[in-house]
Amino acid sequence: MFKAIQINKDDQGYRAELTQLDDSALPEGDVTVKVHYSTLNYKDGLALTGKAPVVRRFPLTPGIDLVGTVESCSSEAFAVGDTVLLNGFGVGEVHSGGLAQRARLNSDWLIPLPEGLSGQQAMSIGTAGYTAMLCVQALQRNGVTPDQGDILVTGANGGVGSFAIGLLSRLGYRVIVSTGRPEEADYLKQLGAADIIERRLLSEPGKPLQKEQWAGAVDSVGSHTLANVLAGTRYGGTVAACGLAQGADLPATVMPFILRGITLAGVDSVMRPKADRLAAWKQLAELVDAEMLAGITREIGLEQVIETASDLLAGKVRGRIVVALD
Ligand code: NDP
Repeated sequence: MFKAIQINKDDQGYRAELTQLDDSALPEGDVTVKVHYSTLNYKDGLALTGKAPVVRRFPLTPGIDLVGTVESCSSEAFAVGDTVLLNGFGVGEVHSGGLAQRARLNSDWLIPLPEGLSGQQAMSIGTAGYTAMLCVQALQRNGVTPDQGDILVTGANGGVGSFAIGLLSRLGYRVIVSTGRPEEADYLKQLGAADIIERRLLSEPGKPLQKEQWAGAVDSVGSHTLANVLAGTRYGGTVAACGLAQGADLPATVMPFILRGITLAGVDSVMRPKADRLAAWKQLAELVDAEMLAGITREIGLEQVIETASDLLAGKVRGRIVVALD
C-alpha cells in the first residue's frame, strides 16, 4: 500500500482525499517510479479544488511534476535505480501523477534528473520554473538582449514569476515586476527585481498603444494585463505569454503588432518536445543555485496538500511549494 491523493467525481460530488492505494490503482505504463518529491502548481490547485476542469479521468491522482527512482522499467529507456524527472504530458490531468508515493508512467515522458540538481531542487523548480525558462529562452530566441531595455515580469510572487525574475536577473537583464503584493518587495528584490509596479496599473482596460516601457516581458497573467503589457512594449520587442492567472481572455488590438512589430510568443510546457525540455533544464541547472531555490521554496507533506491548494488559488502562496513523499 502507498499514500496518495485521489480525486473522485461521482454522485457525492467532486472531491480530493488523502488515501491509501495499492498497485492495482496505478494506470498503464512501462515504468514504475518510487516518487520522492512532487510540487503544487497553479494547475494542481485547479485540479485539487475542482475550480476548473483540469482533471478529465476519474479516479485520478493529481500532480503534474515528480522526481523519483525507477523501480521497474520494461523498455530500454531507463534502468532500475535511475532518478527521473517528469513535467506535464497530461500527467495529473488524464493520467495519475506525482501526488502519491508511487507512479506508473510512460518512459517517453521522462528525462534523467539534470546534472547538478537534487530531486528536491528539481521540484523546487518544477513546471513553474521550467516554464519560466522556456519563456526566457523565447525572448533570447527573438533577439531580446539586456542592452535593449528592461524586461517586465507579471504575477511576480507566483512560481513562474519568481523564477522568471531570478533567471532574467542572472542573465544580466534589468527586471521590472508587477505584483498585487507590494508588501513582498524584499523577497522580489532579493530575487533580482530592480523596480516594482502595482498590478492594478496593468489589470484594468487600457489604451491600445501606450508609452514604450519594456523591451520584453514574461506574462503569466493574461487578460487585460497581457493587453497592457503588449501596449507598453518597445518597438520590435517580444512578450512571452504562458498563463491566465487573471483570465484566459485577451482584450487587445493588433496595434502593437502592426505599428511596433511586437512578437507575442506563446509558451506551452506540457507537450514540449524532449529536446526543448532538455535544453531548458540544462540552462536551469546552470543558472539556479541553492540559495535562490531555498529562498523561493516551502516544503510540505502530502497531508497539507489539499488545504495548501486553496491558498495557492487565493494568491496567498509566495514562490514554490515542494511536496515531500518519502
Ligand atoms: P501561482 O499561483 O504560483 O502564481 C500566479 C501569480 O499571479 C500570483 O502569485 C499573483 O502574483 C498573480 N495573480 C493571481 N491572481 C491574479 C489576478 N487576478 N490578476 C493579476 N495577477 C494575479 O501560479 P504559477 O506561477 O504556477 O502559474 C501562473 C500561470 O501560468 C497560471 O495561469 C498557470 O496555469 C500558467 N502556467 C502555464 C504553463 C504553460 O505550460 N503554459 C506552465 C505553468 C504555469 P502577485 O501576487 O505577485 O500579483
